[in-house]
Amino acid sequence: MSLDLVLRQARIPGHGPETRDIGIRNGRVVAIETRIESEAPTRALEGRLAIAGFVDTHIHLDKSCIADRCQCSSGTLDEAIHAVAAAKRGFTEDDIYERGRRSLEKAIVQGTMHMRTHVEVDPRVGLKGFAAIQRLKQDYRWAIDLDICVFPQEGLLNDPGTEDLLVAACEAGADTLGGCPYTDSDPNGQIARIFALAQRFDLDIDFHLDFDLDPSWMHLDEVCRQTEAHRWGGRVAVGHVTKLSAIDPPRFAAIGRRLAQCGVAVTVLPATDLFLMGQGALHSVPRGIAPAHRLVDFGVTCSLATNNVLNPFTPFGDCSLVRIANLYANTIQAGSAKDLALCFDMVTSLPAKLMNLADYGIFVGNPADIVVLDGTDATSVVAELAQPLFGIKRGRQSFSRSAPVLYRP
Ligand SMILES: [Zn+2]
Repeated sequence: MSLDLVLRQARIPGHGPETRDIGIRNGRVVAIETRIESEAPTRALEGRLAIAGFVDTHIHLDKSCIADRCQCSSGTLDEAIHAVAAAKRGFTEDDIYERGRRSLEKAIVQGTMHMRTHVEVDPRVGLKGFAAIQRLKQDYRWAIDLDICVFPQEGLLNDPGTEDLLVAACEAGADTLGGCPYTDSDPNGQIARIFALAQRFDLDIDFHLDFDLDPSWMHLDEVCRQTEAHRWGGRVAVGHVTKLSAIDPPRFAAIGRRLAQCGVAVTVLPATDLFLMGQGALHSVPRGIAPAHRLVDFGVTCSLATNNVLNPFTPFGDCSLVRIANLYANTIQAGSAKDLALCFDMVTSLPAKLMNLADYGIFVGNPADIVVLDGTDATSVVAELAQPLFGIKRGRQSFSRSAPVLYRP
């Protein structure tokens, strides 16, 4: 068989427990067989897991790596929003590009190959963030596919000029439209405007939503209602929804069924949710993480994602989705083999579904996007934080990392 490369003895999600050889030609997977006969160069995976890369549905490249510019003391969401709003006034396009590049390169060597980055648009920062991330998208296409989601972090209806900028970004090629109703003077009004714009530009929607621990009210109801009214099921995601960690099981089940029925997906952002929720509590601090893996049982599409990196929202971050999956599993007490495997799905196949990626997965005919992990199955990758060893994007090697070596006496 005429091939460019053969990966030997890979374990591949969706292809059973036995190892398979993967044949690659012209940037695509052209064969998956027990044994491929070919003169092409080979790499021996020795039973390691090969996946089509991790999928990060929610990160903020434009405001990453600014922790050193912000003075924060209370660690609350309010403080983070105000600190970043102040820092944002000093952003230039090149500064955003440079910080975004640092985070993006980290994500690439952590095995992420698809990413939706939320980008702030408002009259203060204008389209600087959008322009910088558009450049990153082009410059790093060899390693990662970026989806740019523009959104009004500081409100829409209370911030004149913001909608015109969102429209300009959509006209200039934004991929997704985001929202943040909880910072708006008219949350339901913002939700309605975002749906109207999404319909006008035929874009998927990704809201920041219900980001506190008060279960007495939720914007989720309105998002579900508008999703049905616009027949936008399968094209709407909501991030955080930490309120879902503060409700009783019967109400949680009812919401799970409703989300599945109207096609609204959920992204949980464990690093940020853990850091910002429950600030001020001096003991028995709530974890504030929505139990996404329980929503999957109701048929909801769920992802675990990075969100913020090294800024007042989350002063940590290595852009590793293996770490985020492990952090989520540990915090939410998801320790069974089934739950750990589900956590793995929530950083691979489920976020691919959330982003409506048509050709995700290692299957014949798909792009040869492959990340090899130093583990043999999904459960152990999450439990043991198995690291990526190398990646191939559209048939070309995009990164490698060395496996640790012991030098025995
Ligand atoms: Zn976010």
